[in-house]
This record gives sequence, structure tokens and C-alpha cells, in this order.
Amino acid sequence: MSSDITANLGRIKQRVADASVRSGRSADAAQLLVVSKTWPAEKVSEVVAAGHLAYGENRVQEGEEKIPRLPDHLHWHLIGHLQRNKVRKALPLFQTIHSIDSLKLARYTSNIAAELGVKPKIYLQVDLAAEETKNGYNPDKLRDDLDDLLSLENVSILGLMCIPPMAATPEDARPWFVKLRELRDELEHRAGQAFPGLSMGMSGDFEVAIEEGSTIVRVGSAIFGSRT
Ligand SMILES: *Cc1c(COP(=O)(O)O)cnc(C)c1O
Repeated sequence: MSSDITANLGRIKQRVADASVRSGRSADAAQLLVVSKTWPAEKVSEVVAAGHLAYGENRVQEGEEKIPRLPDHLHWHLIGHLQRNKVRKALPLFQTIHSIDSLKLARYTSNIAAELGVKPKIYLQVDLAAEETKNGYNPDKLRDDLDDLLSLENVSILGLMCIPPMAATPEDARPWFVKLRELRDELEHRAGQAFPGLSMGMSGDFEVAIEEGSTIVRVGSAIFGSRT
């Protein structure tokens, strides 16, 4: 029911604002990215009708089908793994990419962006727990690549993103959010430039993530219900 989704959106926005204030920041310090993956355009329209602008998809192909069916003024974020052979399709659709996880992919993305005349915002995805099954930069590799990443002209690096290991409770995720923030601080120090963005926190743990400095939380099921 549409009223459910709209009510969920309102509640989540309030909780995001409350957690931001709790973290000593302004109520709008953390942005809400509504993760619309698996949900059809008609369902997403209900959130659009409530005035929300930022949406996340994890697959380029799903975005290709869905994004043209929704209004032009929305902002689309790619939050899932990006394969090199999808970059050319992804860039006209997504203004922000949360999943850049190698210098090779970053360089290729920057080159294609130059060709297409766009400059996507990117987050560098970090695999903090060195989980075999997860994509993401190894922190040491990221330290090594930092200068080369910063030299890329057609991507704008906002900061870091992580998907922590599955946690039994939201509190269990906190140490990973702290680690991502500390890595960000270290990289800022090394680079002598700010990386203000921390993409961390999902339906189950977004408040903890915001308390630890998240600037954008990626929330799907708490708004749309569980994906089956
Ligand atoms: C699906 C997904 C989310 C949203 O997960 P929920 O638990 O439904 O909020 C966030 N981030 C990424 C990378 C995802 O793939």
C-alpha cells in the first residue's frame, strides 16, 4: 500500500535526522539514499511522489529499464559492483557510483566519462574485513593507489564506502564504521584534501553508521519492505 511506503519514508527520514543531531551534526548532515533495487518503477513512484530525489540501484541493467520510466530530475546512485564492460552504459544513467574498487576501474571510468562529457561523483569501496566474497579495495592497496586516483580528471572522489560483514546486532557493525572513518581521516591527511563522503549504513544499522560519521545511508527494506 502506498501509504505504508510513504509513512516508512517519513519515519526513516526522522530517524536519520535524529541520529545526525545525536552525532553532534546538523539534522541534514546525513543524506538518505532510497535503495530501489528489485522494486518496479510504479512502486518507486510512490516515494518520488513524496518528494524524495536520491535513489540507489545495484545493477546497471535494472537501472537501464527503470530509470527512463521515472522523472528526469531524480539522482541515481550505483551501489553494486561495476563491471568494466558496463561502465559505458552506467555513466549516462548514474551520477554517483559507490563501488569503485580498483585503480584500473577508476581510470577506465574517468576515461569513458571524458569521452561522454560527464564527471561522475565516486566513492571508493573498501573491503575492511578482507572478506573473500566481497568486492572492495584492500586498505593498503588503496593507500598505495591514492595519488594515482587523485590524478584522474573526470571523476570526483567524494570519499569511502563499505558494506560491513553480516552482524547480529547494529552495535556489532559499529567497529567497521569507525574503521572506515579512521581510514578516511588518514587518507585526507596523506592527500592534504578533504574526502567528506562516508557511504555507510543500511536498513539494519543506519543509525549506528550516522553516529560514527556516515554522510549517506543506503536504505531499502526499511522503506519498501523485505525483498523476497
Ligand atoms: C541492497 C543494498 C542496500 C540496502 O539494503 P537494505 O538492508 O534493504 O536497506 C544497501 N547497500 C547496498 C550496497 C545494497 O546492495
